[in-house]
Amino acid sequence: MSWPAEVYGRLVDIVNPGTESLGTVATLRVEGAFVRLVATDLPDALADLADRGLVEWLRTADAIDHADAWLVLRPDAAGERAVPTPEGGPTAALAGDARPGPAPGAGRVILVGGGPGDPGLLTLRGRDELAAAQVVVVDRLAPLAHLEGLGADVEVVDVSKIPHGRSTAQVDINAILVARARDGKRVVRLKGGDGFVFGRGMEEVLACQAAGVPVEVVPGVTSATSVPALAGIPVTHRGLSHGFSVVSGHVAPSSEGSSVDWTALARSRTTIVVLMGVGTIQAIAAELRAGGLAADTPVAFVVDGGLPGQRRLDSTLGEVADHGAPAGIRPPAVVVVGAVVDLTAEVLADR
Ligand code: SAH
Repeated sequence: MSWPAEVYGRLVDIVNPGTESLGTVATLRVEGAFVRLVATDLPDALADLADRGLVEWLRTADAIDHADAWLVLRPDAAGERAVPTPEGGPTAALAGDARPGPAPGAGRVILVGGGPGDPGLLTLRGRDELAAAQVVVVDRLAPLAHLEGLGADVEVVDVSKIPHGRSTAQVDINAILVARARDGKRVVRLKGGDGFVFGRGMEEVLACQAAGVPVEVVPGVTSATSVPALAGIPVTHRGLSHGFSVVSGHVAPSSEGSSVDWTALARSRTTIVVLMGVGTIQAIAAELRAGGLAADTPVAFVVDGGLPGQRRLDSTLGEVADHGAPAGIRPPAVVVVGAVVDLTAEVLADR
């Protein structure tokens, strides 16, 4: 259900809400309303919201005075769904969608995390922002299928950074975002995964802020967890792995610029997820072995997760330390090291 902007800050009473009202209550809270539930008993999810102080619960079967309420909902009286039954509330306000938003034409940048590549793994908010964009600045790992639905007048700027290949310098990307926003454009910066996980998203946010350009962040589904999941690997599993560490393999362990303590990681007993590690994985595996991880520790490589060419190849830490990644592994790939990799071996064998 879509609520008008006027509901923000108002008191909404709901009399005898059942499970059919869960969505209504959640939406009203998202929209900034104060919700008061009037009932002797509540479904567990609503009782929990009351316990957490997120809604008020008046435990009574008696009719109460709704004088303070802007709106009173009686879902039980109206059947299955919660239908607005205004008592003294400005019902007219319930027609139409009066959400506040930036004035059309006001330049701004929206940093959207696009997920691992499958168009279905872009968030709903990300999709809404794309639909409203006048300029879309994309990376190669963004869910590019969404560009298909953009209007013909939307400018698409490709700023892909190809490993060891063509790339747009970060300062130039920042400059493009700022310049288009200053032109009054609504600019969506569409990235792969989550913009704040090795995505240089904060650099773009800071550049916008420094230039006085309004900027918003829409988080995305990071490849660090979703790509293993798409290949059947949970990064944690009760009794097997009580945590996971996500590290960049961009810089080799022996390099001066390396700041990862691989020995500590080897001892962490967490699942290790390496991004950008295809070129360095042999040296990383050797470091993890030296740090004490067994040669038979399972390792999975998942290439092109969420894309039509998704592939998973399994190996062991000893094998990778001695011979490198299995043949045919190329970026983008997520490497998972740890016992969770073996958990799904049977499931995958059935594919
Ligand atoms: N911000 C991104 C990560 C950017 S770093 C995120 O949150 O997912 C780029 C690295 O992410 C790649 O080198 C690879 O390790 C990983 N990656 C991103 N998309 C991927 C995909 N679809 N399949 C496999 N790995 C992916």
